[in-house]
Amino acid sequence: MNIHEYQAKALLKGYGAPVAEGVAILKVEEAEAAAKKLPGPLYVVKSQIHAGGRGKGKFKELGPDAKGGVRLAKSIDEVVSHAKEMLGNTLVTAQTGEAGKQVNRLYIEDGADIERELYCSLLVDRSVGRVAFVVSTEGGMDIEAVAHDTPEKIHTIAIDPATGVTAADIAKIVSALALEGAAAEDAKSLFPILYKAFDEKDMSLLEINPLIVMKNGHLRVLDAKVSFDGNALFRHDDVKALRDETEEDAKEIEASKWDLAYVALDGNIGCMVNGAGLAMATMDIIKLYGKEPANFCDVGGGAGKEKVAAAFKIITADPKVEGILVNIFGGIMKCDVIAEGVVAAVQEVGLKVPLVVRLEGTNVELGKKILNESGLAITAADDLDDAAKKIVAAING
Ligand code: GDP
Ligand code: MG
Repeated sequence: MNIHEYQAKALLKGYGAPVAEGVAILKVEEAEAAAKKLPGPLYVVKSQIHAGGRGKGKFKELGPDAKGGVRLAKSIDEVVSHAKEMLGNTLVTAQTGEAGKQVNRLYIEDGADIERELYCSLLVDRSVGRVAFVVSTEGGMDIEAVAHDTPEKIHTIAIDPATGVTAADIAKIVSALALEGAAAEDAKSLFPILYKAFDEKDMSLLEINPLIVMKNGHLRVLDAKVSFDGNALFRHDDVKALRDETEEDAKEIEASKWDLAYVALDGNIGCMVNGAGLAMATMDIIKLYGKEPANFCDVGGGAGKEKVAAAFKIITADPKVEGILVNIFGGIMKCDVIAEGVVAAVQEVGLKVPLVVRLEGTNVELGKKILNESGLAITAADDLDDAAKKIVAAING
């Protein structure tokens, strides 16, 4: 689960991290009052969307010469005029895709005088099985490009969970970022704070790009992106409350209500499967026969008929889907339950695209019987290979 920059900053501020004062607004009329709460004379007006690259982004409605999604303002009037241009318009960034994202919320922030822009993130480094800091002096830009062009400028410092961030870890980070004076002093509290927040809130990513050294020598968190581990949300009601469903895919929200693992992809075959391994195998074999999956929906082990029907409806709701492949290996899951769920969903929402079903395992004969007797145009398949061939053939006409 992702949150907005202003929420991430409030959370980090609660842990004691240095962030600017700021006010989030939803309407142009709120811009002036928001700016008046800040000291000035420099303000920043920041689009709050769940995507990065906002500064270099372009508003669809404003033409190529208009300013981007993060703007500096030198007066309250300028804050208001930026707010008028930005709110309600669609920002296209390197991360939003061509469709862009509508800016429904702005964060008006006290502007900083920047000396240097650095990069700092925390993530779970699977290669060492630890949470690690990734830092670079090359902040404020696309970190993937830095990693590609100048990998020596990226430093990874893994943290021992038994000790947390040690003085030696901080020294490594300070050296990697070439911090001196007040900034090096700030580092002693900032990096342990970031680690604590990451750990306690079960984050999967905390990215600060840029972390800045200000002209006055101190550090400040200028941008913040936080993703939380969805599997740990049940123990963080405060985090769950930060969810902004308007930023999320409607189908993913519906899937999460049913506790279904749904992933949207770019192709045109919808896949209903059980288990992550079978999902991967199903997608591989679709690709082997020359097509791409549009999504996959994993109904898991113990789903009932209603959950299966919900999964089927989510898959068919995607207009990209030109065919559906149901691939179930019934171990804990029973094939007759899958069949009943599919039939119920088709009866409710109809079936406008070819459907191939491959069932194997517990109660398979009963499952096949339910499908055969339903009178629906369902193509049965004997095995995974047969199923993939049949759905690809059906789409190719
Ligand atoms: P992103 O483009 O979505 O990553 O948004 P950021 O919050 O990282 O802002 C983009 C850029 O705007 C930063 O890299 C800075 O160069 C600039 N910027 C943001 N806030 C300030 C500020 O307070 N003062 C100054 N001078 N520049 C800022
Ligand atoms: Mg940024």
